[in-house]
Amino acid sequence: MTIKQALISVSDKTGIIALATALQQMNFRILSTGGTAKTLQEKGITVTEVSDYTGFPEMLDGRVKTLHPKIHAGILARLELDEHQHAMKTTQIPPIDLVVVNLYPFTQTVAKSDSSLAEAIENIDIGGPTLIRAAAKNYSRVLVVTDPQDYATLLEKLESTDKSDLEHYHFTLAKKAFTHTARYDAAISNYLTALDATHRPQRFPDRLHLDFALVERLRYGENPHQQAAFYRNSQNFVGSLADYRQIQGKTLSYNNIADTDAAWACVKTFEQSACAIVKHANPCGVATADTPLQAYQKALVTDSTSAFGGIIAFNRTVDEATIHDVFKQFVEVIVAPSFTEAARQYLARKPNIRALTIPLNAHQNQFDLKRVDGGLLVQTPDDFDMTRAQLRIVTKLQPTEAQLADCLFAWRVVKFIKSNAIVFCANGQTLGIGAGQMSRVDSVRIASSKAKQADFDLTGSVVASDAFFPFRDGVDVLADAGASVVIQPGGSIRDEEVITSANERGLVMIFTDIRHFRH
Ligand code: 5GP
Repeated sequence: MTIKQALISVSDKTGIIALATALQQMNFRILSTGGTAKTLQEKGITVTEVSDYTGFPEMLDGRVKTLHPKIHAGILARLELDEHQHAMKTTQIPPIDLVVVNLYPFTQTVAKSDSSLAEAIENIDIGGPTLIRAAAKNYSRVLVVTDPQDYATLLEKLESTDKSDLEHYHFTLAKKAFTHTARYDAAISNYLTALDATHRPQRFPDRLHLDFALVERLRYGENPHQQAAFYRNSQNFVGSLADYRQIQGKTLSYNNIADTDAAWACVKTFEQSACAIVKHANPCGVATADTPLQAYQKALVTDSTSAFGGIIAFNRTVDEATIHDVFKQFVEVIVAPSFTEAARQYLARKPNIRALTIPLNAHQNQFDLKRVDGGLLVQTPDDFDMTRAQLRIVTKLQPTEAQLADCLFAWRVVKFIKSNAIVFCANGQTLGIGAGQMSRVDSVRIASSKAKQADFDLTGSVVASDAFFPFRDGVDVLADAGASVVIQPGGSIRDEEVITSANERGLVMIFTDIRHFRH
């Protein structure tokens, strides 16, 4: 029987001893580069150094280690072809059957705040990607492993008696290998094209390579005649929507995911226990309270008609009592960091309802992405966290402590409502929401009429507006509705007129100097 050869050359040495030990027991001959060979030899594993194997020393500070025909012909030869067999015989090059490589840590190097261009360049692996690509190209004969997480499965498949299983695994690993090198080169390009002529980093590179992995193929898109899938950005923070785990229910639809995103983004920003109910990407009720149940009840009454078939998000562990209440109406998706065991059992009574858990983490992703026809708008996230100290009171009347607390609540909610956004609030509860109107005064009218439909008395309420009031008309409408406090960015050329109207109408007006458009 011919001796099988494995080439191992890894920067990340995790799990390599166990793998090499097992390979040795399977009678693999192990070839390795300097550092890897040393690590293995220290544990008593028999290794042939690549430089001894090729008769050519590693040189140029390791820039050239495995770039040798004896290595690459050994990987690339197609043994089913007579010509290749012949060439290998005459050059006396034995085949290599398994390649285990992971690359110089380029991403980790450039992520360090004090990394230099020179250091980054030295961390561009040359031989490693060449080995990986060669092995992946010849996957029908060669196995290529780029991820220490795969070592255990590799050993299982090698030991398995089911040879077709191993054959399929060759292809699986090859796809993973090309993805590995593609991502590696993308990271290099993103890093280099973000540097200006004097090597200073700019925030957005000239070319942006994003990497998304399939989460799932969806039954259909926004509408049934559209096909769709959900992809996860590989650089996500833990706690992003894409980290969801579905604990029960029908499969998620495209719209479920989009709406859950809006609900989760809103609710996770609150420190207090909160609940957000979303329909068509807009909150139709948001509230904070001592318990999830109370928060839900407060959020629901804002607009219980619209909440029908909504997405309900919580930022606390949800208990059975809350699910009991939620089940009184039709709901599409419930999302929370976790559910109590009793809540899960109660949920199971309605097995079609989708329940998701997502680890709670208020961090947002580095970039906010929005598609436009043929392109992508990229911005940093709207993660500005307003504090009391930053609020500017511009009217004669001053707010009370309770009004200030409601202002901060309203300001947090308005950010998650599509522009032009208006929200009436009191006691940590939305009373009326006006969303997505082309004119601000219409949003005010809708918000106040919604509040009236829900039988709320708006006397003394707080109103948030995501952008400035261009005219005094909006202020007049909200004053007519009974509001006492307005929080808005300010910055209109008619600010004076707007402040005068607030003074005339006996309102407190607060400027944030920060706008929260959301389109
Ligand atoms: P070691 O720690 O074994 O000395 O080096 C392992 C690393 O070297 C691996 O990350 C592998 O991708 C990389 N490598 C293997 N061959 C070459 C080569 O010819 N040139 C360069 N630049 N890197 C290589």
